[in-house]
Amino acid sequence: MHRPEMASRVRARTEPWDMLIVGGGATGVGVAVDAASRGYAVLLLEQHDFGKGTSSRSTKLVHGGVRYLEQGNISLVMEALKERGLLRQNAPHLVRDLAFVVPNYDWWEAPFYGLGLKVYNLLSGKYGFGASRILSREKTLELLPTLNTAGLRGGVVYYDGQFDDARLLINLVATAAAQGATLLNYAPVTGLTRDAEGFVDGVLARDLESGEALRCGARVVVNAAGPFCDAVRRMAEPDATPMIAPSQGIHLVFDRTFLPGDSAIMVPRTSDGRVLFAIPWHGHTLVGTTDTPIPTATLEPRPLADEIQFILDTAAEYLDRRPTRADVLSVFVGVRPLVKTGNGGNTAALSRDHTIHIDQSGLLTIAGGKWTTYRNMAEDCVNQAATLARLPDRPCLTRTLPVHGAHPDTAQLGPLAIYGSDAPAIQELMRKDPELAVRLHPALPYTGAEVVWATRVEMARTVEDVLARRTRALFLNARAALAMAPRVAELMARELGRDDAWRASQVAEFSEQAKGYLL
Ligand SMILES: Cc1cc2nc3c(=O)[nH]c(=O)nc-3n(C[C@H](O)[C@H](O)[C@H](O)COP(=O)(O)OP(=O)(O)OC[C@H]3O[C@@H](n4cnc5c(N)ncnc54)[C@H](O)[C@@H]3O)c2cc1C
Repeated sequence: MHRPEMASRVRARTEPWDMLIVGGGATGVGVAVDAASRGYAVLLLEQHDFGKGTSSRSTKLVHGGVRYLEQGNISLVMEALKERGLLRQNAPHLVRDLAFVVPNYDWWEAPFYGLGLKVYNLLSGKYGFGASRILSREKTLELLPTLNTAGLRGGVVYYDGQFDDARLLINLVATAAAQGATLLNYAPVTGLTRDAEGFVDGVLARDLESGEALRCGARVVVNAAGPFCDAVRRMAEPDATPMIAPSQGIHLVFDRTFLPGDSAIMVPRTSDGRVLFAIPWHGHTLVGTTDTPIPTATLEPRPLADEIQFILDTAAEYLDRRPTRADVLSVFVGVRPLVKTGNGGNTAALSRDHTIHIDQSGLLTIAGGKWTTYRNMAEDCVNQAATLARLPDRPCLTRTLPVHGAHPDTAQLGPLAIYGSDAPAIQELMRKDPELAVRLHPALPYTGAEVVWATRVEMARTVEDVLARRTRALFLNARAALAMAPRVAELMARELGRDDAWRASQVAEFSEQAKGYLL
């Protein structure tokens, strides 16, 4: 992954690409991995950084979705449970099993959730993560020592997967690149080109670093712009009927003392009838999420006061210590690219399945679905895109394709475990320059070596890329991230050959952005 090399490949290509993908989130990068591994010539353009959209802002669960089971959507649950198993197999360094406890305060909850979660486990078949079981009050408190004990009867435990979304995404970009794809961040698509018959045959884009205008031909253009995909569709058909009903979800992050064990809390029905999770994540406690319809998606969505209060109040019902605004270390917001199904107003009830739509212009849009099912979505999309573009038929290989970094046993890699097979190279950076082994902030484990690695090898271009996505500092502790910014800018400037003015502007830009993660 080397941006100047990627940019020069884009400039050098005179033939059309087999597949050109708009959008570098889970959906687009998944399509790039699939198409490149089938041997197609692939270009992916991302307007900002990889994962800047929804794909770095999820609840970090690799799951079948217990809620969809309750809604009777068995096929969606089964597909997601299978994908959960494949992802653990192909990215074992990133997906870990996590115990989720549904605390029971009413007599009917143990049999009801006990049975439901048994079915959930049965549906996973050979891809199971562990059998669910009913717990006594004592055992429940052993797993969740900070649970509110007033009226507590016991619990039901089941197992699902947990991951780091932005890290998986960067590893998938590396996987696609290793399979021969060209992927460029900071390259917004600004228009679509058409052939004599009016079919989309490429895109107009801009390289934001060089300022250069790009014109790239393609046999098929795949619109994977997530919550922004209607804007891309309107580039071809200005009055296209919108497909997406955007809905935002927020998460609050607290320190580990709120959930000190290794188990998560799953609240199956909040006061507004939804699911809420409290999850241990990177040594912190992540609580979310909400589902609030919004008029349009933006790249930096902001939490609403009601959403914050709702999460604080619901968490207070289940925890023995009531979390307050002062306890919030970071708040982050993601926008669901939910596909419209008629004119229903309640986004929580909208389909979580993915949709592939082909406009009359031949632009193929893939939207919806979830992180967990990105591989299956990509397989479906590439099958249809290859047919549309009349590309030679080639089988999908991603069911068994290891994700970059795959490592069978990361236990010995310590705090760098998340990097999987890349960890020794980062350790080597520290060995050569011990200054790089120094932590950037006492509250977080990140070191200078990770900044150098992200800049040198993972196409990080800004301080925000490093603090929000290559590491998760901004999402874990926004104040600590702010304090780290000057040192990160200094290390990046050295790597990228930038001057003091660049450093100052990067720190100023990041500080402005980080304000949105503070309460
Ligand atoms: C609050 C929340 C919690 C979630 N939790 C989970 C979970 O725990 N587990 C799970 O499986 N799923 C979860 N999901 C769903 C999952 O995160 C999304 O389905 C997935 O990330 C969507 O990916 P995407 O690539 O379609 O969209 P995005 O990640 O938004 O990617 C689209 C990309 O397109 C780019 N783009 C837009 N316009 C252009 C243009 N003109 N040119 C170039 N690029 C462009 C954007 O910058 C963006 O990076 C959650 C979603 C939300 C909102």
